[in-house]
Amino acid sequence: AGRLTGRVAIVTGAASGIGEASARRLAAEGARVVCVDVSEQVQALSLELGDSSVAEIADVADDTQVDLFVRSALDRWSRIDILVNNAGIDGQLALLADGHQENYQRVMDVNLRSCWSTMKAVLPSMVAEGSGSIINMSSVGALIGFENLSVYSAAKAGMLGLTRGAALEYGAHGIRINAICPGGVLTPLAESFMDEGTYKAWADKHALKRFARPEEIAAVVSFLASDEASFITGSSLVVDGGMTAI
Ligand code: NAD
Repeated sequence: AGRLTGRVAIVTGAASGIGEASARRLAAEGARVVCVDVSEQVQALSLELGDSSVAEIADVADDTQVDLFVRSALDRWSRIDILVNNAGIDGQLALLADGHQENYQRVMDVNLRSCWSTMKAVLPSMVAEGSGSIINMSSVGALIGFENLSVYSAAKAGMLGLTRGAALEYGAHGIRINAICPGGVLTPLAESFMDEGTYKAWADKHALKRFARPEEIAAVVSFLASDEASFITGSSLVVDGGMTAI
């Protein structure tokens, strides 16, 4: 039995990268996991994880779809102990003045609105249980600037605001709400804006001179979800290989 035995977790963006690694890790620690993704690939992961897992194909930017997968998790397992808000996109890489309006809206909706709508949907059941752990996947982009990623950075910084405010509002109910700010992580998202040549330049921005493996972020997700993090709330854990120390 692992430290999350009996817990029910929802992980968004579970078909790839950090979300997939997190779903695998939470399941390995004994949790039942609802794997949410807009991509049908999430079904393969859920099948692999077996009976203690279910796949939900949904767009987290759509409040109605969010309410549906939360409702279906509650119908199936009667409780939600852990929410990992991980689905995210970097969007169009562009200088601020060159950015498109639709890109602004989509990046805000997928990264920030979803953080609000999923928390709004799960909190009543967590209040009823008197416990819960919510983990919002922000980014070092919330803390330092990156060229061509200003809208992404704004959405990720917004997640820290939601995290702090909600942590204050729900702490008295035994619910902990935290964010993680990863540095570079080797996932399809990171690879999408990096050819092999630019990897080294980006790796060199970290004290450790490399990117993280998704499992290194999943380990922190699992820690924050567990009772070992029982006194941590309203915080953002910087898991960036020293990127913001440079
Ligand atoms: P990824 O692209 O490998 O995986 C993201 C997953 O989210 C994909 O499976 C995708 O289908 C899903 N997704 C995208 N939009 C969705 C939507 N509207 N509804 C449901 N699912 C959706 O990305 P990743 O690198 O694993 O990133 C995961 C999170 O970590 C993101 O929020 C990202 O901003 C954040 N992050 C990543 C890095 C990095 O370097 N990779 C660094 C800091 C923060």
